[in-house]
This record gives sequence, C-alpha cells and structure tokens, in this order.
Amino acid sequence: MQKIREFHRQSVQDKETFWAREAQRIHWETPFTQVLDYSRPPFARWFVGGRTNLCYNAVDRWLDTQADQPALIWVSTEVDQEITYTRADLAREVNAAAAILQSLGVVQGDRVLIYLPMIPQAAFFMLACARIGAIHSVVFGGFAAHNLAQRIDDAQPKVIVSTDAGARGGRPIAYKPLLDQAIQQAAHVPEHVVLVDRGLVPMTLTAGRDLDYATLRARHLDVRVPVVWLESNTPSYVLYTSGTTGNPKGVQRDVGGYAVALCASMEYIFGGKPGDVYFSSSDVGWVVGHSYVVYGPLLNGQTTVMYEGTPIRPDAAILWRIVETYGVNALFSAPTAIRVLKKHDPALLRRHDLSSLERIYLAGEPLDELTGQWLSEALGKPVIDNYWQTETGWPILSAQPGVEEVPVRFGSPTAPVYGYDVRVVNEATGQDCGPNQKGVVAVEPPLPPGAMATIWRNDERFVKTYFQSFPGRLTYSTSDWGLVDDDGYWYILGRTDDVINVAGHRLGTREIEESVNTHPAVAESAVVGVADPIKGQQAVAFAVLRDPAVLDAADARDRLEREIKQVIEQRNGAVARPSRILFVNNLPKTRSGKVLRRAIVALCEGRDPGDLTTIEDPGALDQIRSVL
Ligand code: ATP
Ligand code: MG
Repeated sequence: MQKIREFHRQSVQDKETFWAREAQRIHWETPFTQVLDYSRPPFARWFVGGRTNLCYNAVDRWLDTQADQPALIWVSTEVDQEITYTRADLAREVNAAAAILQSLGVVQGDRVLIYLPMIPQAAFFMLACARIGAIHSVVFGGFAAHNLAQRIDDAQPKVIVSTDAGARGGRPIAYKPLLDQAIQQAAHVPEHVVLVDRGLVPMTLTAGRDLDYATLRARHLDVRVPVVWLESNTPSYVLYTSGTTGNPKGVQRDVGGYAVALCASMEYIFGGKPGDVYFSSSDVGWVVGHSYVVYGPLLNGQTTVMYEGTPIRPDAAILWRIVETYGVNALFSAPTAIRVLKKHDPALLRRHDLSSLERIYLAGEPLDELTGQWLSEALGKPVIDNYWQTETGWPILSAQPGVEEVPVRFGSPTAPVYGYDVRVVNEATGQDCGPNQKGVVAVEPPLPPGAMATIWRNDERFVKTYFQSFPGRLTYSTSDWGLVDDDGYWYILGRTDDVINVAGHRLGTREIEESVNTHPAVAESAVVGVADPIKGQQAVAFAVLRDPAVLDAADARDRLEREIKQVIEQRNGAVARPSRILFVNNLPKTRSGKVLRRAIVALCEGRDPGDLTTIEDPGALDQIRSVL
C-alpha cells in the first residue's frame, strides 16, 4: 500500500496544497482566496471566497462535450419503464424544475423538501435547488407521516415536491395521504406542494396549495434559469441520518467542498472517468443516493443509472441485467442486497455478460467476510467494502484503485482514504491505540471537504454529538469500533452502542455475528445483548437460514444450534456463546437496511420496542416475538 499511504500522508500533512490541486477538477466562477479556514475548531470552511455551483458543474459544464451522451438512465421494474436522458435533456428538465421553483417564490437559502420515490424528478429537483441556491432536504420515500412531519418542522420548507405514489414489488404505495397527514401534524406550513402525478393511485389536491407538476413543466419548459454562483460554504442540502440509533441528525453540507470531494472520489475510489457508466442501487433518500446516484457521477461527467425496484424482481439477476444492458463500469450496492441474492439460484449470477463491470462497491453496514468472498468469486470481480457515514458524505476507509491497486481482504474496508486523518482511539484515555488494539474510529479535525459542515441550525449539537467523546481531545468520533492489523488493514467492529458485557467481558456483537455467519446454512444473523441477573448480559443470536426448509428435518434445529454455538466458542470464546440461537425468516431492519438491534433487545427483555417509525417490515418483529 506504498502509494496509498504516501498519497494519504500528503493529504493530511499538507492539506492546503493537496486540496488546492484537487479543487481544479471543478469550475470556479470566482476563485477561492483561502483553501481552508480553521479559525473556529471544529468548524472547517473550505475554499473560502470561491464561488461555484453544484448544478453547473454536474450539468452545464458537460454540455459542450457530452450534450448527446446519456447522463441519467432511469430503470423502473416497478412500472416497467426505462428512459435515457442525455446531458442536454437533463439540462432542459433541471431548468424547467428550477423555473417552477422560482415561479413559486423559492429563492436562495429557502428549503425545498423532496419526498419522492426513485423517479428522475427527484434528481431534477435536487439539481434545480442547487442551481438557484435553494437548500434541498430529501426525505426517504418509505418514511411515514410522523418521520416526515418531524423533518418538515426541522427543515421548514417553502415548497414540498412529492407524488401520488411509489411502488414496491409491483404494488403502488400511496404517498399523498401520508404527506397530507404529515403536513397536518407539522407546525410548519409549506406554501406549495408540487405533485408528480404518476397515475398510480387517485389523489385529492388541496386547492391553492397543491400544484400539478406536468402542467407547471409544460409552462416552464425551455426557460433558461441563470445559475446562482454561491460562496463555497453556502449550505447546499440538509439530509437526516438513517436513525438506526433512534436519533436522526440533520447533516448540513456545503457547495464547493462537496463538489471537489465527490469529483475526486469518482476517480480515486471508484476508478471512474468521464463517459463511464456508474450504477448505485441506493435510494436518493440516503446519503449514497445523494453522493453516488446524483452528484458524484454527474460532476465527473459520468452516466448515472437510477433504479426503482428491488434486487430480486422480476428475478434475482436484475442488477446484472442492468449492468449488461447499459454497460455499467462500477456498481454500488449494500451488503443487505447481496445477502438477499445469496438466497437465490447462483446460476443467475452468470446469466449476463458482465464484461463492462470493473468493480463492485458495498457500504452501509458491515460486509461479512463470507458474503464478500462469495460475491467476488461468483462474479470474478473485485468487491470493495467501503466504510463511511451520512456525516462524512464520502468514504472514510476504502480501497482506492484510482490511486493504487492493492489486494482486498474480505472483512476489511482496506485503508484510510486521503483527506481523513483517521485514528483508532482508546475511549477511556483518549490516546491513539496501537496495532491490533480495539478502539473507537475517530477523525482528527478539520474534517475534509465534503464532510458535514454542522447540524442544521444546531452548531452546539454538532460539537456535543461528535467532538466530545474523548477526554482532553477535540476529535470527531464515528461511534464505531475498529482496529488496524499489522499490515495496515482496517476493520470495523460494530457500533459503540452495540457492545455487550457478559460476566465482565466486553464483546462486540458484530464479531459474534461474523462467527454465526460462517455456518454454511446461515444467510445472515443478528446478535444482541440481553439483560441477565447473574452475568449482566447474555448474548442471544437470531439467524436467518439460506433455506428455511432445512428446519423441517427431525432434530435439525438442535443440531444447527449446537453447531453454531460450537463455532462461536471456537472463534470468540465460551463467554460469547449465546444462551439461545433462534431462527427467523427476516431480521427487523431500518428502511436503509440496518438491523434494528435496540428493538430486538427490547423484545428479548420484555420491554416495549420503542420508536419503530424507521422499520422496514414490522412483520419481522412479530416473528421475533413469536420465536421468543
Ligand atoms: P444514526 O446515526 O441516525 O443512528 P446510521 O448511523 O445508521 O443512523 P448512516 O450514516 O446511514 O446512519 O450509517 C453510517 C453507519 O453505518 C456507520 O457509522 C457504520 O456503523 C455503518 N457502516 C457503514 N458502512 C459500513 C461498512 N462498510 N462496514 C461496517 N459498518 C458500516
Ligand atoms: Mg450514525
């Protein structure tokens, strides 16, 4: 990792030189006068005085050379439609959306809340906001009225953009009634709601407030809206974290730093160049959707594929079919999607021509060794685990094939990414840990360009939440455990709030899950700590089998339970052996695919599971209840 290390060293030792050079990737209407202003730690301001625009850099800048090339390809297996927008088409749609917003009185600094499924209008309106300096706040379309109302009150949008319905598994899911409820619950009153009518379910419009997108679009098509040049540190958007810990935070991002960081990452991390095709299967409601469906690929002159659908419909080869049809070069997905594929016929992985595909990137949750290896071997492609957070906006730890090709080790997101001065810190002493010592993954501020600027309208919460975890040290805490091995490979060992204490031993649930997952019958698992009068806590494991039918055989349950316990004993020691191994068909997860451990623990301890508004499938909790 010689080159990666040297590149990283330069980036943290001489930040100004490093980032001044990277900043040349984008267009600055007015050059910046200072690369970094760090006069008020931990708040960092990048490219001070420079004026630029995210929409200009993502759309207009490529019109000279790429007007007729695909910029955004939309694939929906929900409504069986595929549309290719060239850069010129995209420019036209974004200008129309910007003109619509302006006609409704939206000006620089106003918030626009976007509550849409994976349809192109989500990208049009995000870019339209960026064009005129409005601040977008995309709320994941799967969220219900309560979550939405909270975010309406926090972001206080002048305009909301929504639709009649999304769809999942071929069935429409109405959005409008939820939106109406949310607006009713919220204290803040938006002036207008623009509705994209997909014709999926009937909707009632509120006169004076609700407006039809198609009508407005027809009126404003071919209007050219001038770009508003924004000082680099102007807020571009607010996005809430996934809420796995039950406490979503409104992450505020800037303009210039974000543009530079994403553009650089497209080359160094994702090995992309202008003209390449990039496909991220994330939803626009999450950070991956912001950075790597909309902004990153477009800023770098690449084609982005936007997908409405699941990884298994019409069959479990759909991702590979899209790769083949559109010549995708890099695919970004989540471990949870791949674990789902593991339950299907492996022949589906070989049905399509994947010769265009160079690498697969997975992030959002721990990628267990076996799943990574399984996918990589089945496809014969490198699988790159990358670790980051909504807060950082782009990867903190990752392989960086655009800097240097190094062998990946499954279970490890490789090494620190340039720009991040990452450390493993002892949470009690605040000192850096040595090799193979477990501690909290932390970043020495200033955070690099593109990372969160603050929590929306709450500087104090920003400092308190992220910078006050270690005694005597103003360091950004990720709240994730990690360690670095002797060869400099990094490992993420779970969230700091997922540690359990069994008879005085502190155990990471992630490590026990890794062991459970090594059993060939297991597709995925969740291990939680449950209160125990003698030991303090006891580990309890929930396992999803690849083929639940194996449980039909006599004694299968006992045998599997015994075998899994044995593996854990061998790998993690006898203290880690769960008191029970329970088999379920699904794990309760957040809408972003992360296991809701706190809800499982509550059920195990006979308590109320608490706030479940971010849950994907409430049925999964009923199953946990019934096996308990
Ligand atoms: P909240 O902060 O609101 O509780 P969240 O942390 O789930 O929600 P995100 O910002 O979407 O919201 O998720 C970031 C977290 O996901 C990381 O802190 C880490 O725990 C986990 N994560 C992301 N990528 C990886 C990865 N490659 N390996 C292990 N864990 C990962
Ligand atoms: Mg978090």
